Amino acid sequence: MSLDDSLQAELKRLKKQSLYRQRKITDGPQQVHLISNTKSVISFCSNDYLGLANHPDIAKAFKNAVNDYGVGSGSAHLVSGHSRAHHQLEETLAEYTGRSRAVLFSTGYMANLGIVNALMNKGDCVYQDKLNHASLIDAALLSSALSASRFKRYSHNNLTRLEQLLASDHQSQRKLVMSDAVFSMDGDLAPVRQMSQLCQQHNAWLMLDDAHGFGVLGQHGAGVAEEFALDQQHLPIYMATLGKAMGGFGAFVAGSEALIETLIQKARPYVYTTAMPPAIAQAVLMSLKISREQSWRREKLQQLIKQFRMGAQQLGLSLLASQTPIQPIMIGDNHTAMAISKQLEQHGLLVTAIRPPTVPQGTARLRVTLSAAHSEADIEQLLNALAMLKIPQDVL
Ligand SMILES: *Cc1c(COP(=O)(O)O)cnc(C)c1O
Repeated sequence: MSLDDSLQAELKRLKKQSLYRQRKITDGPQQVHLISNTKSVISFCSNDYLGLANHPDIAKAFKNAVNDYGVGSGSAHLVSGHSRAHHQLEETLAEYTGRSRAVLFSTGYMANLGIVNALMNKGDCVYQDKLNHASLIDAALLSSALSASRFKRYSHNNLTRLEQLLASDHQSQRKLVMSDAVFSMDGDLAPVRQMSQLCQQHNAWLMLDDAHGFGVLGQHGAGVAEEFALDQQHLPIYMATLGKAMGGFGAFVAGSEALIETLIQKARPYVYTTAMPPAIAQAVLMSLKISREQSWRREKLQQLIKQFRMGAQQLGLSLLASQTPIQPIMIGDNHTAMAISKQLEQHGLLVTAIRPPTVPQGTARLRVTLSAAHSEADIEQLLNALAMLKIPQDVL
C-alpha cells in the first residue's frame, strides 16, 4: 500500500469514531473573548487561568526585551543561548517557589522527558498515576533506561496501591514517583502530603508536575508547594510550566543545587535544543510579578468556580470533585460529547470535547476551564446555554 492510501484509511477510521481532531484558527490575541474560525466566541477552554496571555504590561515587557535581545536565542543554553534574562528568570523562579535553584526548559513536555532521562538509570523504577499527563507517561515510555517492568502505574490517586508497589520493590536502586499535582483533564488534586510521607518512608523521590497549579494554588500563586507547605525536602523535584497561568511559554524544574546541575549536565531535552527566545523569559518575569502581587486574580477565580459549580449542579450536570479552574462535565460517549461541543459553539461558546486517548475510553467530557478574565455574566451565559442543550437528559 502507498503511504497516502495507508494513512487515509487510518484517518477515515478516526473520523468514524468521532476521534478526528480539527484545529480552529484564531485571530487576534488569546483571551476570553476570542475570534475563532472568524466568529466571535467566549472561550472556556484555554489554560490562561489568570488572564495574563494578553496582559498589556507583559506584552510591553516582551516588546522592550525584543529591542534589547532581538528575537531568536540562536543556540542551546550550553552554547551561547543562555541570556541574562533567562538567568534572572531562573533565579526568580527559585526564589518564588522556595527552592535552591531552578532551570528553564523550552516546554513542559521536554522538562518531563528530561527529568526521567537525567535521573533514571538501568535498574531504577518510575511510579505514576494512571491519569497523569501524556508528557509524564511518555517520559517513562521513551526512556531507554526503563524496561517495561520498571515503569509501574497505579490507579488514580490510589495510595494503597502505590504503597504496595513501593513496599514490594526490593531491587530498584532509585525510585521516582511522578504525578500531576492538579490533574489536567479532571481538575482534582493529588493527595500530595500523603504522597510525600509515603515517599520518605520508602526511600523514593517525589516529583510533582504543577502545570495547572502554578499561579493558581497558594496564597501568592507559588503553586502546590506553597498551598500544602511542601519544602524542598518534602517535595524534592518541582516542575511547572509557564504557558498556562503565566500566559507565556516554557517550563522549569526547581529543587536542590545537585538536582538542577544534574539536569543541566545530563538531560538530553535540555542539552540538545534551542533556548526559548530571551524576550519570552523577560516577559515571564513580568508575569511572575503580576501573579505574586495580584492575589485578587486567584480570589476572583474561586468565586467564578463556585458560581459555575452551583449553577451546573442545579442543572443536574455531572461534575467532578474539582475545586480548581478545570471543571469538566462528564459525558461518556465520544459522539455525544462532540455534538454538545458543536451546539455550544453555535451559541458562541467554545468548550472542547476531550476524547480518548487523552482520557480513558468511555469518559469523554467537556473540559470547561475558567479564567480570572471571565465575568460573572460570561459564566451565566454558559450556564444558560447548557440549560438549553438539545440532548436527551439521560445522557447527562
Ligand atoms: C500542558 C502540560 C504539560 C506540557 O507543558 P508544555 O509547556 O505545554 O509542553 C506538562 N504537564 C502537564 C500536566 C500539562 O498540563
